[in-house]
Amino acid sequence: VTELKTAATPDGDGYRINGTKIFTTHGPHADVILAYVRFGPGVGGIGSVLIDTKAPGVRIGQKSRFMSGEEWAQIYFEDVHVAAEDVLLGEGGFKKQIAGFNVERMGNTARSLALGRYAYEVARQWALQRKQFGRLLCEFQGLQWKFADMKMKLDAGQLLLYRAASNADSGLPSAEETAIAKAFCNQAGFDIANEALQVMGGMGYSQEELVEYCQRRCRGWMIAGGSIEILKNRIAESVFERTFSQRP
Ligand SMILES: Cc1cc2nc3c(=O)[nH]c(=O)nc-3n(C[C@H](O)[C@H](O)[C@H](O)COP(=O)(O)OP(=O)(O)OC[C@H]3O[C@@H](n4cnc5c(N)ncnc54)[C@H](O)[C@@H]3O)c2cc1C
Repeated sequence: VTELKTAATPDGDGYRINGTKIFTTHGPHADVILAYVRFGPGVGGIGSVLIDTKAPGVRIGQKSRFMSGEEWAQIYFEDVHVAAEDVLLGEGGFKKQIAGFNVERMGNTARSLALGRYAYEVARQWALQRKQFGRLLCEFQGLQWKFADMKMKLDAGQLLLYRAASNADSGLPSAEETAIAKAFCNQAGFDIANEALQVMGGMGYSQEELVEYCQRRCRGWMIAGGSIEILKNRIAESVFERTFSQRP
């Protein structure tokens, strides 16, 4: 985010925006966009503006789809005029904006967990009624251990999410606790959905059930809103109580 190049330059009573936004989930359907832009150099120069997608100079690129089906498209801003009242956070607002981002990360965390929980529950019901070799699937110890692992991950993820949420009484959730909860739940949600799919065999892989969708959807959360690697970089900074520049 701190490398963003989309520029806001003074233009009469407002600003002129030039740049490109690459990923925008459901972007082709948006009426208004909240765009992070650069008013000046460095991290302090970053702020945000509201842009009407029907404004002259806004162009929606070719539509594409993520693995889980959502549409996205690149959005181009070519000399788009934004009035001063549509500046959400001006120069120096970046710290405030990025703190708010932890709230989005919590939502992303909860969604991963919910998808994992749904897949787990479908597979649990399946294992209670599906018979192979004359026995219910839930009677095979190899599958019981998979369910035990799924349950441990669900409970641990839930507690990490609650910790981040309940400690947010100062206004916003802490970056460290949010990063821990998101990294854990993104991975756990995916692993659980993947195991639930496996336990259900061919039916798990089929679109007859939503379990395969849960697995695909969770995969995206491991990248979107701060990838697991970037979150671990943040966690490591807390571990060592210092920052680490990622630049050469
Ligand atoms: C389903 C989905 C929806 C999305 N929706 C939106 C949206 O609505 N709006 C929006 O703005 N963006 C959205 N994104 C984009 C998302 O924020 C980026 O894909 C994400 O930040 C990763 O950036 P990148 O794709 O450029 O990967 P890169 O930054 O090129 O990273 C590639 C790989 O290298 C790793 N990596 C990069 N730097 C480091 C480092 N310093 N240390 C260790 N590992 C590193 C990354 O974790 C990743 O695995 C979405 C992405 C997905 C998958």
